[in-house]
This record gives sequence, structure tokens and C-alpha cells, in this order.
Amino acid sequence: MATQLLMAKSPSEAMGLKTADAAFLAGGTEVNRLGSEAAAGAETLISLKRCSGMDHIEKDGDNLRIGAMCTFQKLVESDIVPAYMKEAAHFMASRTKRNMATVGGNIAALRSDSYLLPTLFAVCARLEVLTREGQENICVNSFMEEALSGKEMLITEVIVPLGIKAVSKRYANTAQSHAVLTMSAAVTEKGITMAAAVKNSGIYRFRKLEEALRSGEDMSEDDMIAFFRGAEGLSISDDMFGSVEYKRYLLGVTAYDLSRKLADSGKGV
Ligand SMILES: Cc1cc2nc3c(=O)[nH]c(=O)nc-3n(C[C@H](O)[C@H](O)[C@H](O)COP(=O)(O)OP(=O)(O)OC[C@H]3O[C@@H](n4cnc5c(N)ncnc54)[C@H](O)[C@@H]3O)c2cc1C
Repeated sequence: MATQLLMAKSPSEAMGLKTADAAFLAGGTEVNRLGSEAAAGAETLISLKRCSGMDHIEKDGDNLRIGAMCTFQKLVESDIVPAYMKEAAHFMASRTKRNMATVGGNIAALRSDSYLLPTLFAVCARLEVLTREGQENICVNSFMEEALSGKEMLITEVIVPLGIKAVSKRYANTAQSHAVLTMSAAVTEKGITMAAAVKNSGIYRFRKLEEALRSGEDMSEDDMIAFFRGAEGLSISDDMFGSVEYKRYLLGVTAYDLSRKLADSGKGV
């Protein structure tokens, strides 16, 4: 349990204070959650609340730059945040929690029922991060891989594209319950993209499916169900959220549903 709280005044100060037994503290809704492992081994918490320049929302050409300390509520109240990001932020049903929880904290938590990561994967979001070597601009997939390999990174900004269509679907018993599946699809400049958070399994981007759809293959619902039934690299398990077969089926029908929604919106750009 942490015994020391440090208040960083800038992102570089926060990164400078980071040691192996310290953790960043943003909104605290994950760090302070009973049973959370987010900061279980941390002796020191480095609060980002007084860090300057981390809670802005600004247009930058065809993109939107969102400070990592932006709360979910600030996202849903903004006039310039795209609808697909607001939809993902609304998956956090509690307004009280939306007032505390931050975008950076949600990404860094890397939860398999993540509210934002499926959408951020689907729209190929990029992150500005501070590392020991300096500032880096990386895609959200790379962030996940590098964070899981133990690299220390402070997320300072999330960069999402404007003017694209993205749709999401989340399955949970109630709005407040953990989701068994959250899936997102988008039409980006590269073509259709699909990603999902599968509870107790992980976050996935379905590149083979994307390739098939981009090559003009007309896939029926049964084709998509068959694709996910046989998809390799998905480490899905039987648990209280459902069987492996159920989760693969759900991925298939949801992928079909989202691809239809994108097609119906005229690829929505
Ligand atoms: C009852 C309950 C249910 C929940 N259900 C869900 C759920 O279904 N899906 C979901 O995704 N989350 C869920 N959460 C977790 C949490 O509310 C969200 O993930 C939230 O967005 C975390 O943001 P935060 O600002 O509170 O992060 P914090 O709790 O402050 O931090 C979370 C993690 O991110 C790190 N961190 C924070 N900011 C940064 C940064 N800028 N750069 C690098 N690392 C950083 C922290 O060190 C910590 O490891 C739940 C929490 C509670 C209490």
C-alpha cells in the first residue's frame, strides 16, 4: 500500500519522479478501487492532478488532441469531441465516476473490459507519451505492447481523427456491470477497422477480418460467425461471463452488426 503522495506540477516532473515502486495517480477510480492491482505494489503515488497542460481538448487539423487528464464528463460535454468518443465515454454509466475518471487513466489501466480502448484501437488513435528517453508519438496498439512489456510511459495526450465514422456495441447485464464484450468498428483512411475488448481475455484488433472486408469480400453474418469461430490468436476462456463458443459467436454477430451500421451510414464520412 502506498505511504507517500507526491504532487507533480508538470508531466516532465511526474516522469522524473517515476520509479519502479511508484505509480501515477489520475482520477484514482482504478488505483483506489478495492481489489485493484493497478497500484497494489506501489509505495509512492505521483498525482497528476496539478500537472499543467494535461486537460485540454483542441482541434489540430483533421485530428483532435485530448489531454490525458481530461475526464470522461469533459469529453461528453465538449462541443468538438466526435460522437464516437462520446459514445465510448458514456459506457461509463455513473456521472460521479465520469467526473473523476480520466482518459489517460482508462488507457493505462488496459482493462479487458475497457470503455475506451476498442474505440481507440478502431480509429487508430495515437498517443503522445513521455518516456525516460523523451517524448514519443505512438499508436495505441504499440502503447499496449510496450506497457505490457514493462516500459514506463506517461500518457500526455490522445490524438483521434475527426470526420470519420465509428460505431460501438457493449454487452453487460446492466449499464453498471462489467462488459463481456465491447466492440468497435470504424472507416478510416485505410478502410474498415475492427477491435474489441473481451472480458478476461484482452484487447484485439482483427486485421485478417479487416483485410477480407477491404478486399471487397461480401461477408454474411454466418461468414463472420465462422470467422470468429476459427480465429486464431484469441485466448478466450470459459468463465462466469460465458463459454468460449458463446463469446466467439457474440464477436461474429456483433462484427456483422457493426459492419452493416457502417455500410448503412454510407461509410459515414
Ligand atoms: C466500480 C468500478 C467499476 C469499473 N468498471 C470499469 C469498466 O467496466 N471498464 C473500465 O475500463 N474501467 C472500469 N473501472 C476502472 C476505472 O474507473 C476506469 O478505468 C477509469 O477510466 C480509470 O481512470 P482514472 O483517471 O480514475 O485512473 P487511475 O485510477 O488514477 O489510474 C489507473 C491506472 O492508470 C495509470 N495512469 C493514470 N494516468 C496515467 C497517465 N496519464 N499515463 C500513464 N499511466 C497513467 C495509473 O498509475 C493506474 O495504473 C471501474 C472502476 C470502478 C470503481
